[in-house]
Amino acid sequence: MQTADIRRRWLEFFAERGHTVVPSASLVSDDPTLMFTVAGMVPFVPYLTGVVPAPYPRATSVQKCIRTSDIEEVGRTPRHGTFFQMNGNFSFGDYFKEGAITYAWELLTSSEADGGYGFDPKDLWVTVYKDDDEAISIWKRVAGLPDERIQRLDKDTNYWSTGVPGPAGPCSEIFFDRGPAYGIDGGPATDDDRYVEIWNLVFMQYLIDDVRSKYDFRIVGELPKKNIDTGMGLERVAFIKQGVDNMYEIDQVRPVLDRAAELSGRRYGADHEDDVRMRVIADHVRSSLMLMSDGVAPSNEGRGYILRRLMRRTVRAMRLLGVDTATFGELFPASRDAMKAAYPEVATDFSRIAQLANAEEETFLRTLTAGTSILDLAVAKTKTEKAAALPGDTAFLLHDTYGFPIELTLEMADEAGLTVDRTAFDELMLAQRTRAKADARSKKSVLADLTVYSPFRALGETVFTGYTELQTQSRVL
Ligand code: ATP
Ligand code: MG
Ligand code: MG
Ligand code: MG
Repeated sequence: MQTADIRRRWLEFFAERGHTVVPSASLVSDDPTLMFTVAGMVPFVPYLTGVVPAPYPRATSVQKCIRTSDIEEVGRTPRHGTFFQMNGNFSFGDYFKEGAITYAWELLTSSEADGGYGFDPKDLWVTVYKDDDEAISIWKRVAGLPDERIQRLDKDTNYWSTGVPGPAGPCSEIFFDRGPAYGIDGGPATDDDRYVEIWNLVFMQYLIDDVRSKYDFRIVGELPKKNIDTGMGLERVAFIKQGVDNMYEIDQVRPVLDRAAELSGRRYGADHEDDVRMRVIADHVRSSLMLMSDGVAPSNEGRGYILRRLMRRTVRAMRLLGVDTATFGELFPASRDAMKAAYPEVATDFSRIAQLANAEEETFLRTLTAGTSILDLAVAKTKTEKAAALPGDTAFLLHDTYGFPIELTLEMADEAGLTVDRTAFDELMLAQRTRAKADARSKKSVLADLTVYSPFRALGETVFTGYTELQTQSRVL
């Protein structure tokens, strides 16, 4: 089942059940507290919190998401992308727990011929918040799940709250069992890669207060209007339905991985660390493409810095695969072709995106080799001195002169078994910022001084006559 088909089935299923289909919002979230859209619910927050009345009682979407917090997992677990798509269905004071569970079960287990995903019920497990007896009884009644396939877990995985007084509630998550080849038979609670979380159902049910932390608060009442927020990972269902091992091998991602393998002359599946690199490349190229198509450009700050980090990590991963030359000109078109059916704008806007990507790659390639030698020397020196941390000024030099995002230096140091003197690095960064600010202030005052020339404006357009009338010119000035 192609990713596009899984997406279409989702939207049709919920549209047929009275949900308004809402297009994906931008990856650049409207919420000033969020760098990116990290979940399907983000664009609906004002309705879910009741700040703005919802214009519809039910909605559904396939939302583009970026989670840089998962960057370290990429390529190492089968299921974490920095970019992914979250299919969501939402109820604003309309159906609640029973409705959400019934829909989820129906879509997952009804046959492909009936428009469903055709999962075998015996491959599915669920988790519920440990005190949520209501959810357990619904799962038993609606899905006929036996006790042993419903696991009770604690707040850290099975509760949603924002960490401030307001709405909160338990979650129930649905997992797919990949079978004994992937781990022991202990259910999702074992937390290994055998059980893949595919869908999270959030029951926004309570009003909380006395909030000490995200998971430490007092329930002060039931919400007058209870909401449903769910999120199903499109790539996760895709990799299971496509019979591949992980989300980097699905139709929307695999072509980039293959291109990276071809360019490097190495075979995917031959070496574990090379495989991780190829998966990282496939993921990061796609995330960069999607970010640029939503208007983010590489820079040294904020969103642009995250994008820069993704691109520079890609360049480095290619280098570790033995490729020193520019490859974005091959990798980005591969990602474009895999994504354009779902997001036509990546094709129509491609020449602009490619220009940004190629320029970023060129800049970094120019300094990567020199920077890597500096780092290697510093690593060797640190080791001879039997120190555990690379000096902060090396990290700063790499950042400032060679364009190494600090996270990249941290990763490279870590690969050599070292840490980085982060405190010294941060101090140097702070000093640089202070200098830059002072510079900007003095530049401003220079500009302000220019106002002394304003009387000359009254003279109207001036013609430079200095070549012939040097005397006159110098007198005017
Ligand atoms: P996990 O425990 O596997 O990290 P999560 O609990 O952090 O997932 P949720 O916040 O519940 O994920 O998001 C809802 C759904 O979105 C998940 O059930 C999963 O299918 C999908 N999802 C979450 N994070 C990612 C990711 N980084 N890449 C791909 N899909 C994801
Ligand atoms: Mg997670
Ligand atoms: Mg989880
Ligand atoms: Mg979850």
